[in-house]
Amino acid sequence: MPEQEHEHVRVAVIGSGFGGLGAAVRLRREGVTDFVVLERADAVGGTWRDNSYPGCACDVPSHLYSFSFAPNPDWPRTFSGQERIREYLEHVADTFRLRPHIRLNSEVTRARWDGERLRWVIDTASGTLTADVLVSATGPLSDPKVPDMPGLDTFPGKVFHSARWDHGYDLRGKRVAMIGTGASAIQIVPAVQKEVGHLTLFQRTPPWVMPRADRAITRAERWLHRQLPVTTQARRAVLWGIRELQVQAFTKRPDELGLVERLAKRNMYRAIKDPALRAKLTPTYRIGCKRILLSNTYYPALAQPNVDVVASGLSEVRGSTLVAADGTEAEVDAIVFGTGFHVTDMPIAERVIGADGISLAESWKGGMAALRGATAAGFPNFMTIIGPNTGLGNSSMILMIEAQLNYLADYLRQLRVLGGRVALTPRETAVTGWNNRVQDRMRRTVWNTGGCTSWYLDENGVNTTVWPGTTTEFRQATRHVDVGEYEVLRAPAHAGTGTEKKAEVSAA
Ligand code: NAP
Repeated sequence: MPEQEHEHVRVAVIGSGFGGLGAAVRLRREGVTDFVVLERADAVGGTWRDNSYPGCACDVPSHLYSFSFAPNPDWPRTFSGQERIREYLEHVADTFRLRPHIRLNSEVTRARWDGERLRWVIDTASGTLTADVLVSATGPLSDPKVPDMPGLDTFPGKVFHSARWDHGYDLRGKRVAMIGTGASAIQIVPAVQKEVGHLTLFQRTPPWVMPRADRAITRAERWLHRQLPVTTQARRAVLWGIRELQVQAFTKRPDELGLVERLAKRNMYRAIKDPALRAKLTPTYRIGCKRILLSNTYYPALAQPNVDVVASGLSEVRGSTLVAADGTEAEVDAIVFGTGFHVTDMPIAERVIGADGISLAESWKGGMAALRGATAAGFPNFMTIIGPNTGLGNSSMILMIEAQLNYLADYLRQLRVLGGRVALTPRETAVTGWNNRVQDRMRRTVWNTGGCTSWYLDENGVNTTVWPGTTTEFRQATRHVDVGEYEVLRAPAHAGTGTEKKAEVSAA
């Protein structure tokens, strides 16, 4: 039986956030036009489309949190809000003529490696296609995590996650519970505190919160950036350089972070005068162990009379009563979960089936691991953008994404050089060697030694998310694909070219 005819592309990219759109631009620049970007939603933007909660903003300055190849001289503030960043990504999709490649409402439900024909068979919500190379750019912050909460189904009020904000629900005058004190929650709290009737914050672990040096970028500065693009580059270089120097304290000398802790405490003391509340809000782990949060409005909001901080995690729901682990109870009308994302257990990993017929999730059961953060053993011609140990604790993820795009570009070049129907699959020893080196360096870092748990660690307590070095080091490590780290697979002679038709993606 001839295999059913499917559209075939050179590359299929999953996701249209910074990673997916960046990949699309890079592919076009490499002369690859035969590709699609598969997006489950009805618009591009990834996490910056999904997170529309009140107060949502980025705490990496926009001149650094943007593509180097798409500078924006007109960023209005040093730190941009979600809407601006989303607009920027829409603009990138237009400027680089990516729209013809983007398939909206096309959630990938399964992607299976066909070892005979050396290609991926990808089932999506809008049909099946095949691709020589599959790039997963779903990102670590795409699938919201809501804790398994006993009794949650008995709650009669409104429940939603920070990344799925229900804008149709009016919080005014309501008794609201905010669960969690991560980067999302600390932006939501001051944004909603004034309008809600009462806010109860369930804090399992207090975060370290530093002041946020946010300001409007003046018209003169923007004019200068437009007239002299080199000034935009210089601004970016300074922002990058500072963070490049800072990272040493996180990765090698966590003891030096005491001074930063004093600054963060001063930030709290300025707004919180009640000693009991100060005690609740003071972290007992080293700063940087969890992501350092930036806010000038979080502590002042907590000091308001309509806010209670319960210094204990939510453990049970009994009707409209929320019960904390320490027994504290609160009656509420709405629950907002600011409880983060499935980072080390990405749902997409369950849908990607490799050469041995097992899923990426199964293969990563003992912990995520990928060669140079990109390619996984047993998954030929498959790459993850923002893969294992490519996250950052203190700088812009866009730098890491662009480094991974260099690797993707060279990967495709190597396939071309090898010629014919060919695939690369990383050698197990190369993946293990890389991972051991990463974990070895991780031992000294604040993320492992700082005395906290965080989403950087997986269920085994292993840090499989953060890169323990500078962005420069990562960029160097991903500049070229070392083919010696891969096995070269060639299609058996009898495996025909298939009956697939070429994707007719034109993006003139
Ligand atoms: P997160 O950092 O994973 O925080 C989840 C929070 O939920 C933690 O405080 C956690 O407490 C808490 N939690 C979990 N179960 C709980 C329970 N039963 N009771 C009470 N609290 C509970 O998630 P996020 O805030 O969405 O942020 C995720 C990442 O997104 C950030 O680290 C950042 O990379 C990114 N982000 C960035 C920005 C920005 O740039 N400003 C804004 C938002 C998000 P524990 O600490 O005890 O685990």
